[in-house]
Amino acid sequence: MSIPALPSLQQLENAEEFLARHIGIDAADEARMLPVIGSETRAELIDGIVPAAIRRAKPMRLPAPLTEADALAELKAIAAKNKVFKSFIGQGYYGTHTPGVILRNVLENPAWYTAYTPYQAEISQGRMEALLNFQTMVCDLTGMAIANASMLDEATAAAEAMTLAKRSVKSKSNVFLVSGDCHPQTIEVIRTRAAPLGIEVKVSTVSETLPHLMVSGEFFGVLAQYPATTGHVHDLRPLAGHAHQCDAAFCVAADLLALTLLAPPGEWDADIVCGTTQRFGMPLCNGGPHAAYLACRDEFKRSLPGRLVGVSIDTHGQPAYRLALQTREQHIRREKATSNICTAQVLPAVVASMYAVYHGPDGLTRIAQRVAALTAILAQGLAQMGREPVNATAFDSLTIRTGDDTPKIIERAQAAGVNLRQRLQQHLGISLDETTTRADIETLWALFVPAGTAMPRFDDLAGTAPRLPEDLRRTSAFLTHPVFNTHKSETAMLRYIRSLSDKDLALDRSMIPLGSCTMKLNATSEMIPITWPEFANIHPFAPAEQLVGYAQLDAQLRAWLCEATGYAGISLQPNAGSQGEYAGLLAIRSFHEAKGQGHRNICLIPSSAHGTNPASAQMVGLQVVVTACDAQGNVDMDDLKRACEKHSDKLAAVMITYPSTHGVFETRVKELCELVHEHGGRVYVDGANMNALVGVAAPGEFGGDVSHLNLHKTFCIPHGGGGPGVGPVCVVEDLVPYLPGHATAGVASSGVGAVSAAPLGNAAVLPISWMYCRMMGAKGLQAATETAILSANYISARLKDHYPTLYASPNGHVAHECILDLRPLKDTSGVTAEDVAKRLIDYGFHAPTLSFPVPGTLMVEPTESEPLAELDRFIDAMIAIRGEIRRVEEGVWPKDDNPLKHAPHTAASLLGTEWAHPYSRELGAFPLAELKRAKYWPPIGRVDNVYGDRNLFCSCVPVDAYQETEKA
Ligand SMILES: *Cc1c(COP(=O)(O)O)cnc(C)c1O
Repeated sequence: MSIPALPSLQQLENAEEFLARHIGIDAADEARMLPVIGSETRAELIDGIVPAAIRRAKPMRLPAPLTEADALAELKAIAAKNKVFKSFIGQGYYGTHTPGVILRNVLENPAWYTAYTPYQAEISQGRMEALLNFQTMVCDLTGMAIANASMLDEATAAAEAMTLAKRSVKSKSNVFLVSGDCHPQTIEVIRTRAAPLGIEVKVSTVSETLPHLMVSGEFFGVLAQYPATTGHVHDLRPLAGHAHQCDAAFCVAADLLALTLLAPPGEWDADIVCGTTQRFGMPLCNGGPHAAYLACRDEFKRSLPGRLVGVSIDTHGQPAYRLALQTREQHIRREKATSNICTAQVLPAVVASMYAVYHGPDGLTRIAQRVAALTAILAQGLAQMGREPVNATAFDSLTIRTGDDTPKIIERAQAAGVNLRQRLQQHLGISLDETTTRADIETLWALFVPAGTAMPRFDDLAGTAPRLPEDLRRTSAFLTHPVFNTHKSETAMLRYIRSLSDKDLALDRSMIPLGSCTMKLNATSEMIPITWPEFANIHPFAPAEQLVGYAQLDAQLRAWLCEATGYAGISLQPNAGSQGEYAGLLAIRSFHEAKGQGHRNICLIPSSAHGTNPASAQMVGLQVVVTACDAQGNVDMDDLKRACEKHSDKLAAVMITYPSTHGVFETRVKELCELVHEHGGRVYVDGANMNALVGVAAPGEFGGDVSHLNLHKTFCIPHGGGGPGVGPVCVVEDLVPYLPGHATAGVASSGVGAVSAAPLGNAAVLPISWMYCRMMGAKGLQAATETAILSANYISARLKDHYPTLYASPNGHVAHECILDLRPLKDTSGVTAEDVAKRLIDYGFHAPTLSFPVPGTLMVEPTESEPLAELDRFIDAMIAIRGEIRRVEEGVWPKDDNPLKHAPHTAASLLGTEWAHPYSRELGAFPLAELKRAKYWPPIGRVDNVYGDRNLFCSCVPVDAYQETEKA
């Protein structure tokens, strides 16, 4: 018997490839799947699906893949090029201690970060409770009636406040007044957003002592910062009163920590309050991801942008959370939506809410009091050395006139490893925070102390009174709900966090087969770097010399994404897909304007488009014209041609999704692009479906001018329960000059301003996509795409006799997702796609995408990451459910009393003394035997959506609501 040769080192190293960890399907699986589809090889399958005309000419040029360990080492070396200084820059970003229990059990926990947006309420109760805590926290601290469940950043939240004001007030003016002592990046983003909407932004000059708002003339809204960016705590009450006399809205960008000590804007009649929750436990992250907030008075609620969690009841009458007032949102209201927001900042919002739960009102107040006390001591010491701060009132920030001494002080600060706020003429700024120590105060004094003068002594000044104005002190209670007053010990907090995540289905439990959302693996090695201090503890406005590692990360990732997409230039600034769309359309608009074609204002969008497309087009002032789809789900080329001809002179852009939202590779896409170009328009290819293209076809090569990518879909950033995301905007050569700039951070552009508060948007999650590309390489990324297509076709083929796939190419194939047509079942059994979605919960699955883009269907996208066993488990569940539907069709079960209509089944509903249904309790809970070994129990029954919108309630439920219903 011969002894087999030992493998070579090369063979051993190949076996270590990350590829095999990321892709759930191996060669043996493929050999079982291909015959089901009727293909010989994966290559043959792909050749039969991706039109030859759009196939990539050359493979992507990416560095050869590294193992997990080697990629982490390479990234660590890049991270080490960032210099972590202690930052006192402030300006919307502050040091904070992320409590360890929240860091490990929320931010770094896949049960939280791999969850999807809570559209399926029954499997999302945990994260919706956390978001309801977030909303309650914001309402309580701001004193406002209603708050949404997170905005993308403070600057975009302020811009949304502006448009919310515009929609809500009586004034017909087009002028929005902004106090000059708002954060500069806020003013910059407001200017970007205002211009295409025809809103005139007037920024007041700021004197050193007063908020000088130009309150003369007409205006529809005002924005002021509280406390101001300079540190002043202004009494804004007279201005709020004046705004109301002018029928205008008064908007305030407020610091939540300061509001524990200061009279909240809601108590002095503000209409809209916005800001960031960053300093509630989210590290600086070079600017993001952080959850911003937006709160408003009750009368404005139906106009509020963004996601909103509300309380309703389930079929058993128990309180149940679900997304409220969805008819305001882009996915329903399209170009008439209140905003284009889809992915928001759920994970950072959960962190912020947990921070408030853990510290409670007393803990938050103590943190704020300590910051205010240290600030007063710092100010007093500076005054002693002849540097009385410019702002007589302060919470955490001081502005100090430094004149000609400025360069010398900055030099000393750099030598001491300290960042002060620069870019203020003749002044320096200092902001303190939760992490500031006595030693820090002494370090700061030492920077300013004139030669030969004695340093102030901390102990002498320790009793200095805070510089908060007496008449603006807060007297009202906040965070009185028990949830903010119960979980003080770490044990209690740990269990609270666990109890919420246990209610939810995330990727750590089962596949989430969501069409159009690409819920693939978020590998642990990809996630680990995001909390490295070299990435997490960096201020976005730190000097460029400290951001060298981030600059390299940015440059490399952009280069790789350019390879993947075939585009010439990319900006990573947009912090969601919707924001990428906005930036891309803005580039198109600006291009036309620069060419003297500013009258081009028509944007053609096929009816199947994602709701963000028309909503974004509206935001850049484009007029949306909807074009038809044909019976195969393709863009109706004749209709598009007619529309192009009709609007030829005014055509700005056509927005398509490729492969189409119907999950098909349209063969005429090149022709479509040429047609649009002939009419002087530009082609926007929505790249959210890049998981079907990477390595196979590139939109920048086949005719697209602009695309956005969703790094939180195709490039492995987890969904976080609804964010954070990154929506890079990618453009061809002649549009590169129109990518977003960031004047506040010194990033130039030809006229297109900032679209996000921070120059690199959600910078701290970029390492995830970097790691993915670095570990996969060109071959791995292409294999991922091909496997995603293979798996979708496998599901479509195996389910074809049970649920026909609605749209396919002529040879019967789909792209990376398939739409299962359930509409005929409604007539034969009364069962709807929603019933099937809810019944899947009993089988332990998150539902596929429900009723998008076609009502009454389920869209399934398996991704390359799911193992064959999981695909089969899903398919078996779907087939078993079809069997249940058949029993309804055959009359065994009534149409209104069967396991589908009562799904999902809670333990409580099955174990009651009464059971009056024509099927067994066992079938309700365990329709497949394997479920007895591992069962996900939904915490609530089916949610009543209508009840929730009729009885809108969007903050924490009083504890007795549960007791009452339990008695009932
Ligand atoms: C997800 C998606 C978007 C929106 O992206 P967000 O990051 O959620 O804003 C846009 N278009 C398509 C086709 C999508 O699937």
